[in-house]
Amino acid sequence: MNAAELKKRAKELGADLIGIAPYERWADLAPDKNPRSIMPRCQSVIVIGRKILRGAFRGVEEGTNFQSTYGIYGRDWHEGTFFPRVTYALCNELERCGAEAMPMSGGVPGGENKIIGNEGVAANVSLDSKFFAQAAGLGSVGKGGFFLTSKYGHRQRLALILTDLELAGDQPVELDLCKDCDACLQACPLQALTATGAGAFALNTKLCGLCQNGRQNSGALRYEPLDRLAAACGRACLVALENKIEERFKAPFRKRAVWERDINGKVTVKPLPKKGE
Ligand code: SF4
Ligand code: SF4
Repeated sequence: MNAAELKKRAKELGADLIGIAPYERWADLAPDKNPRSIMPRCQSVIVIGRKILRGAFRGVEEGTNFQSTYGIYGRDWHEGTFFPRVTYALCNELERCGAEAMPMSGGVPGGENKIIGNEGVAANVSLDSKFFAQAAGLGSVGKGGFFLTSKYGHRQRLALILTDLELAGDQPVELDLCKDCDACLQACPLQALTATGAGAFALNTKLCGLCQNGRQNSGALRYEPLDRLAAACGRACLVALENKIEERFKAPFRKRAVWERDINGKVTVKPLPKKGE
């Protein structure tokens, strides 16, 4: 199977995004972050993505439903049920062709600090899915810390497949979706995002962990352990990018006044700015 055949099959199986990061692009990574510590003959890291429905953000946006919309269809079932089926099926296709294929969740789990194998590397090698997604040409990390793609903005989750099959790689891209934008920073009711002056924002994760604006804890195995995609910052990003990305909708996402909660949970509702303001 070559790269073009793999990508075609991945799309048929339900992947919305796929890119390949060949060995030379990550060969110099430290052993505790290097795929070869886990799979010694790894030649390619395949990164696949599945989009999150815009509709899954709706209940949080309106402040009327957090769990059975985003919590289930945007996060838990998306990452725990629908998406792994695609990853598993693609691994199966690779193994049918005689290549070993190792599926990995998009998270960075902790592990044992003891050295168990014979390579002198502790049993907590974890791969940064956003680094590999960038190396595989899928997009880049925006100022707000979200991985952004030209197709869906921040609306996707990612998973990795390590394989010993040599595949043609994709070229990394630097997207300029964040140019002249600070919508995520402006939308944060706790001021947990601050401009560092180098065209990047720093996130106060301690403060962020107290956020009641749609932020959810997901666990270390998940693509976004501190899941901010549907929080005030993430929904502001969705709004900021809706006319810049490829997947477009007939109507704008934001329909009503924007709610926010302060650190004590007190709610304020801000009217939508009128056209021209
Ligand atoms: S999750 Fe909440 S506190 Fe954290 S950056 Fe987003 S809006 Fe701010
Ligand atoms: S809201 Fe704007 S600045 Fe923030 S991550 Fe999204 S595109 Fe970048």
